[in-house]
Amino acid sequence: MALEKYQAKRKFSITPEPKGEVKKRGLSRFVVQKHQARNLHYDFRLEQEGVLKSWAVPKGVPERAGLKRLAVAVEDHPVAYINFSGIIPQGEYGAGAVEIWDKGKWQALDGGLERGSMKFSLAGKKLKGEFVLVRLKDKKNWLIYKK
Ligand code: MN
Repeated sequence: MALEKYQAKRKFSITPEPKGEVKKRGLSRFVVQKHQARNLHYDFRLEQEGVLKSWAVPKGVPERAGLKRLAVAVEDHPVAYINFSGIIPQGEYGAGAVEIWDKGKWQALDGGLERGSMKFSLAGKKLKGEFVLVRLKDKKNWLIYKK
């Protein structure tokens, strides 16, 4: 199942995060969550095929062109996570504060994630315009930048 990795890492009796389920709704939403875990990072998530495809972006998704940022692919998250903010308790996976930094709609423009290169548009409050995600040789590591 698509959320096995996500669910295996978390104790839902303790963390306030949603257990979630795969939900195909034909929506194309994105979210960026600022996550003050052991190391501050930003989690970039795209709704696709009933889950949130997810990357941890240590320096955040760039708001302007000219900066390429490392985005490390992480486990798919449930679509319910798109509205999650709160405190993951100490001792739990990803312990720390999560807040929504930006959210909105996204649209694929060219390529695709399965091909390792995708041009897409974001319509959020902070992130607007055309962006690119491109996978590096190490399968977990991608670059994200604004066109
Ligand atoms: Mn995170």
